[in-house]
Amino acid sequence: MKKIYLDYVSSRPIDPRVLEFAKRFLEHDYGNPSSLHSVGLDAKHVLEDAREKVAELINGESEKTIIFTGSATEANNLAIKGAALRNIGKGKEVVASVIEHISVLNPMKELQKNGFTLNLIPVDSTGMVDLENLEEVLTKNTTVTSIMYANNEIGTIEPIKEISKIVHDKGLYLHVDATAAAGYLPVDVQAQGIDLLTLSSNDLYGPQGAGALYVKPGVKLQPVLLGGGQERGLRSGTENIFAIAGMGEAARIAKEEMAQESERLKGMRDKLIQEILMIEGAYLTGHPTHRLPHHISCRFSLIEGESILLNMDLYNIQVSTGSACSSKTLEPSHVLLAIGLKHEEAHGSMVLTLGRSNKVEEIPTIVKAVGETVERLRKLSPLLNKGVV
Ligand code: PMP
Repeated sequence: MKKIYLDYVSSRPIDPRVLEFAKRFLEHDYGNPSSLHSVGLDAKHVLEDAREKVAELINGESEKTIIFTGSATEANNLAIKGAALRNIGKGKEVVASVIEHISVLNPMKELQKNGFTLNLIPVDSTGMVDLENLEEVLTKNTTVTSIMYANNEIGTIEPIKEISKIVHDKGLYLHVDATAAAGYLPVDVQAQGIDLLTLSSNDLYGPQGAGALYVKPGVKLQPVLLGGGQERGLRSGTENIFAIAGMGEAARIAKEEMAQESERLKGMRDKLIQEILMIEGAYLTGHPTHRLPHHISCRFSLIEGESILLNMDLYNIQVSTGSACSSKTLEPSHVLLAIGLKHEEAHGSMVLTLGRSNKVEEIPTIVKAVGETVERLRKLSPLLNKGVV
């Protein structure tokens, strides 16, 4: 059976062009960009080239706005803790939407344990942030507000420009986690009014092991990692040149190919949604139209998501059931609960995320496998006799 990989939100292959570009840093070029000799200067040059390419993808004011980190999680931690702790003199309040990734929510919860007030903004049943509530909770004591560009579990795209206006009208900072959106949707930090923005290398088809935080000129952060003072003192530690060079090249390719690729995936997404919703007891989760072009998230009554994932794998089709990052716990996803699903409904979720390897010809095989899986699992479902829908 040919593999059909539909879990691009969890991990994706490195683009062969990216590997070709960066592999010399795995094979033989091992310079440290802080060294002043020629081998070090070569690495420094590549680091700065990558910074420029990432800045160009998001229309940053200059390459100096990009701070490389080891992951999107680390960039989120730096944005949240860095802004909150550096600006503690202004106040001790932080704000996020209730559907943020755990790498935003957990640092905020830690701040809360240390005396900060955490305000979580609710979302509606499609995952759209409640803008009125946002406006109400922001005060002059709010040091950072974090709203994601698009949600990785339900695909919903948030109105960042409107959100930024609300936050900026109160003179506050906005952090945007664009991990799931970058490479699929255009990002323009200046036009969208973003002060801090998180990116992940692998989500752009770059290597694992790099992330980036855009920091608008003038925004002050306290570093989380202390040491040799790399990355303008905001992220100490010798840079992972292979991953960073790869991230830069991946950003350059994404900028060039995004519009066409997103259009192609959108066509496949809509066809798959249409076919899957024809299955009895299938419901779309997330927004019907304001959603990522490659993202299909749905739920099936009377079924548990873990068994869908395992059954689909028997067809050599890889899907996910929600947050890959927290799938070790059997707790229902906080995102699905936030959009109003009951526990048993949230357990029946399936997420398909498309990418460069997927072809329109795969649709009938995918739809058949989903249909057969749902039918088989429903017959076995312990929920069947409990009248749950
Ligand atoms: N933010 C979002 C929206 C994500 O989907 C993820 C996971 N890919 C992260 C942050 C964290 O990324 P990582 O685990 O690569 O640090």
